[in-house]
Amino acid sequence: MAGILQLCATPIGNLGDMSPRIIECLQNADLIAAEDTRNSLKLLNHFEIHTPMTSYHEHNKVEKAAVLVQQLREGKNIALITDAGTPAISDPGEVLVKMCADEGITVTSLPGPCACITALTLSGLDTRRFVFEGFLPRDKKERNEVLKRLENETRTIILYEAPHHLKGTLADLKENLALGGGRKISLCRELTKKFEEVIRTTIDNAVIKYEEEDPKGEYVLVIEGRSVEDLKAETIAKWESMSIADHVKMYEETGLDRKEAMKKAAKDRGVSKRDIYAALEKDVP
Ligand code: SAM
Repeated sequence: MAGILQLCATPIGNLGDMSPRIIECLQNADLIAAEDTRNSLKLLNHFEIHTPMTSYHEHNKVEKAAVLVQQLREGKNIALITDAGTPAISDPGEVLVKMCADEGITVTSLPGPCACITALTLSGLDTRRFVFEGFLPRDKKERNEVLKRLENETRTIILYEAPHHLKGTLADLKENLALGGGRKISLCRELTKKFEEVIRTTIDNAVIKYEEEDPKGEYVLVIEGRSVEDLKAETIAKWESMSIADHVKMYEETGLDRKEAMKKAAKDRGVSKRDIYAALEKDVP
């Protein structure tokens, strides 16, 4: 019988957050796959866990996943831990879980600490609808594409960032998402640790703050989503600055027939097709 892959969440800064169920699972597993075995050894020793370990990290995540899947097929129960937090969230665990899912291997998750959810709950921003983007891409073109997509995001946005990249990321957020300076951001650092801090400010003020000091510790950035009402009003204002005839023409030029073009223009402007038809008949701008 095939074994099971068990995703074990580990503390993001406070050993007291290690759950008894996870300790038991790690003690009973046949093998622990860990992102950094030296780092995890300290944690495992602290909880008297002496299960054999193997490394599973960014640089071997594909080849090693195949090896682990084979061991799972042979009946080994494998526990996966990463440097901190919930495996498969912005770490190589994602690749292993995907491979197990494709190969029909059972995966179970023992929940626990996760930096993005901890930060969201502390942010003081809307928590009902949110989008987790992890780390922004380092490649400039890809990064700009993501930022462009996020500009009008109405859900709360969660990002991860390392201290040495924080200033650059805040500058990019200011350039692309600041909305004239007023967009709120909560910078959540050192979560669950002694010096846990949540800085609730605006993107512009966050940039100013870190002109004067160097960021310390790991950060989660939680950014306010755009107001749905503002976005709607802005979109309608944009269309209203264009004549109805030009609006319909714009869609016709994309290859749509007149009827479809009128339908789309009506939808954009929040009016009926009949209104568009009447305006075109009267040649109303
Ligand atoms: N899998 C992890 C989780 O469940 O949160 C995340 C792994 S990711 C490689 C590491 C990032 O998580 C850090 O760069 C930081 O953005 C965030 N992070 C982890 N621990 C944190 C903490 N104690 N305080 C703030 N952010 C933290």
